[in-house]
Amino acid sequence: MSVFSSPDFDQHENVVFGYDQDAGLRAIIAIHNSQLGPALGGCRMYPYASEQDALRDVLRLSKGMSYKAALAGVALGGGKSVIMGDPRKDKSRHLFEAMGRFVDTLSGKYIAAQDMGLNVQDLEQIATQSEYVSGIRHRVDELGNLRAGDPSPATALGVFCGIKAAVKSKLNRNELEGIRVSIQGLGHVGYHLARLLHEAGARLWVTDIDKARESDAIREFGAIAVNVGELYHLEVDVFCPCAMGAILDDQTIACLQVKIIAGAANNQLLESKHGADLHDKGILYAPDYVINAGGLIDLFYFDHGKPAADVKNHVENIANTLADIFMASSRKNLATNIIADEMAAARFQFSYAQAS
Ligand code: NAD
Repeated sequence: MSVFSSPDFDQHENVVFGYDQDAGLRAIIAIHNSQLGPALGGCRMYPYASEQDALRDVLRLSKGMSYKAALAGVALGGGKSVIMGDPRKDKSRHLFEAMGRFVDTLSGKYIAAQDMGLNVQDLEQIATQSEYVSGIRHRVDELGNLRAGDPSPATALGVFCGIKAAVKSKLNRNELEGIRVSIQGLGHVGYHLARLLHEAGARLWVTDIDKARESDAIREFGAIAVNVGELYHLEVDVFCPCAMGAILDDQTIACLQVKIIAGAANNQLLESKHGADLHDKGILYAPDYVINAGGLIDLFYFDHGKPAADVKNHVENIANTLADIFMASSRKNLATNIIADEMAAARFQFSYAQAS
């Protein structure tokens, strides 16, 4: 299996393979860039069809985390880990303990958090073997409630603020009253986001493969449920992808009749060129790793024991970062994802220059 010649290899600092026969662990940790701080990123468990697929995923995801941290303005680098296995049948305490020992070998250069396939209990098992795990402790939030380390509400708040910035930029409106929004995925982030949008007066169209979640959104927010295929054809103001990645491709972009795309899902563009296609079509795209950074900011503040009110201010600042990106995109006539990549890379280069 080639690493350095892989098309997704991008000057990653470390790519480490972990194996434990007794525990059935086959895992990879990738650290893309740690110039700005230790590399924090989720641990994903997925039944990859091949080792090459797992490597591809971890290389791409860890790079995305570097860009996300740089533009979120937190002193963190970008990393990610993947466990090859089916979360529905291959989970065990031994497996996660072995993963914990693997994470610990990097002595804090990589900090594991939650990602697809893992829950907080799994992370807690990893944390029995390594202190370098984030998002598992309980804390008191700004309302005085004790809540788990789940960063999803902060992610939803960031997306909500990002939508407001996009609506201001594209539609020149300061309020969301009457704005038509479609949401794909009503999970941890999507459902919370739906509530914030509903409270702000937006009208909602939703879809989820879990029909119970759709029913809840209909009852609680007066949302209209549509099927997944229909969602791409809806004439609404804002489309919020909050489920899986790679959904913006030649086919879906051809169908879209929206003015703005702003949602939480990671890696929404199938390829970078699809950002240019959206730009050419006049659709304002809020780059995913910028708008969905609220959870990362939340984890960073929590790990550093900072007050909840400061987290909120920092998350709300995502709107300002996006406004800068939108302005530069319009000034240079370049796609927003390209502008965001340039801005993030400039922060690494600045940091490299300072370090050398
Ligand atoms: P989740 O698993 O809680 O929710 C995803 C929802 O999407 C589920 O309700 C699921 O039923 C639904 N879904 C799955 N496939 C679908 C499909 N084909 N059509 C419609 N709905 C579908 O995940 P989450 O934590 O809410 O995260 C959502 C997205 O945001 C993911 O891409 C995640 O990587 C990204 N993200 C999440 C966070 C966070 O803090 N949780 C942070 C950054 C990015």
